[in-house]
Amino acid sequence: MVSVRDNIMPMNRTHARRSTMLSRLAAVPLLVAALPAAVALAGSRQADTVMLNGAILVFQGIERNGGAKQPKFAQAVAIADGRIMFIGQTRKAKKYVGPATRVIDLEGRMVMPGIVDGHFHGTRLTDCEMEYEGGTVAQVLAKLQACLDRPDQAAFKGTNVRMAATHIFGEAIMPPGTALTRDDLDRLDTTRPVMVENADGHKFWMNGRAIENARIDEKTPVPPGGQIGRDASGRPNGFFADLDVGDWGQKAPVTEDSLVDVVRRTNADANRMGITSVFVPGGGEDEIARWAKIQDEGKMTLRGNLGLSASFVHGDTDVAELRAKIAALDAYKRYARGLIEVTSVKVYCDGVMEYPAQTGAMLKPYNVNAGTLEGPIWRTGTATGPVPSCSDARQGFVELDKAGWQIHVHAIGDRATREALDDFQAALEQNGARDLRHTITHLEAIDATDVPRFARLGVIASMSLQWARRDAYTVNGTKGYIDDSLYERLFPAAELWRAGGLIAGGSDYPVDPLLPFVQIETAVDHTGEAVPGVFPGALSPREAIPDLLAVIKMHTINSAYQLHQERNLGSIEVGKLADLIVLSQNLFDVPTEKISDTKVLLTMLGGKVVYSSADAGLR
Ligand SMILES: [Zn+2]
Repeated sequence: MVSVRDNIMPMNRTHARRSTMLSRLAAVPLLVAALPAAVALAGSRQADTVMLNGAILVFQGIERNGGAKQPKFAQAVAIADGRIMFIGQTRKAKKYVGPATRVIDLEGRMVMPGIVDGHFHGTRLTDCEMEYEGGTVAQVLAKLQACLDRPDQAAFKGTNVRMAATHIFGEAIMPPGTALTRDDLDRLDTTRPVMVENADGHKFWMNGRAIENARIDEKTPVPPGGQIGRDASGRPNGFFADLDVGDWGQKAPVTEDSLVDVVRRTNADANRMGITSVFVPGGGEDEIARWAKIQDEGKMTLRGNLGLSASFVHGDTDVAELRAKIAALDAYKRYARGLIEVTSVKVYCDGVMEYPAQTGAMLKPYNVNAGTLEGPIWRTGTATGPVPSCSDARQGFVELDKAGWQIHVHAIGDRATREALDDFQAALEQNGARDLRHTITHLEAIDATDVPRFARLGVIASMSLQWARRDAYTVNGTKGYIDDSLYERLFPAAELWRAGGLIAGGSDYPVDPLLPFVQIETAVDHTGEAVPGVFPGALSPREAIPDLLAVIKMHTINSAYQLHQERNLGSIEVGKLADLIVLSQNLFDVPTEKISDTKVLLTMLGGKVVYSSADAGLR
């Protein structure tokens, strides 16, 4: 599927943040055997850092099979050369304190492994940040007008230069049932082409100038998997989904410096939220080169597994051609050093399920509402989303697997998931088990018969469980459009977990604001925060995972496993890298609905502090 993200413009310089000065971080050897503490590391060595009097969460091993266990805490941890050398009692940890040791008194605070984000795109440049909110059409227009009038944008006012607004919560346009249209956008005081992108990255709205520039009209055919909204006369009404609209206006120049700077901000933004490792799906050479540049400057403060795109696998059965394209990907591996790894490719199998986009690939057709919004009458429709979803990519999956690439698949609908699993099964049958840890991400709907296949095929379920809540997407845009029996199982995490599937947490930032403790809380209770566009109550409550320790492990050791780094990262164990975070509260001491209030006070990467909150009060 084609993305609409080619419309970046110069960043607002006032957003630039002071970059953290760091000495070059130690390179990470791929596999490091955990050393038994008593034998190899204990003794007279001095630590670089010792943390005392805390509640340090310790666990071993990845999480699956629904094995609920009680959390265990240690009081103290000692760190030397970027790795953990001791875990245990405060009294014993003091033995590692020397004249040069930094001693942090945790005063009872909780420490956990740094969060490993298994699906993270990064901070973006934008002309206009809509802040993940909807609102009335008048409120939306006021926000857009304020952006158009901003000093850095005002110079473009009478031109044909694009204005791209990002992260609107388009499903939460009020009152419910209101659609944003081109006619609304044409009331803005500007001649500029305007695009407003939904936070999900799949839907967008354009004003008349943008639609004219893109040469989309009554006669434009709708490409497979895409969507063009039309009014009664067939005229495009301004709504689009999963469509490459081509040239919709003049691009303002973007400097390479501003693009590198946004990667620096990405690192700082992640660290501030307690994230120490990320998987970035489907970037490209330019993006990887920018990460490499900041690493060379000594300013990379995140471990980054940077993915490539392999959308070329769709519709291609020519083995020689596929092998040539796959071999060309090897060139990107030259960037893999230090904190950067390049092991993975992304393939889209569908789009999103919500009405009116409905680009998610479904086994059964979407229902259509033959009644009204208040009095719906549901009838079985004919549309099932893109056909094929990923069955046309089978040969490509087999060849990527054979070449050793880890495949990261976007699948939302139950048919997309099935076709992806079928492709992975074909690869397994032809190439044997390769331990590549292929991953399917998003997984809003899975047919019950496909759930056990994850464990059987060794396919990881990467889930963004902050979506498992009753909101404008899952209620207004989904309920009724699919059968109730499927709706009651949306985001079937508990089924996967109990069937031995490995779930790895991912934020999908910036599709949502970066809030890992909201992710963790919502995975436990499937209930959203009280914000506009989010409704009370739990979505598919039987699919929640009522085990906080299991959910924490999904966001640390399990996602480290997805990144092939579980021997190095993802838990606090002697011999592992000291990627740790100190929290404002013990997650196990507060009611579930307060987990999202957690603040990160300090983030440590390989034993070095990469973020420290001003009000941490840590000495
Ligand atoms: Zn994503």
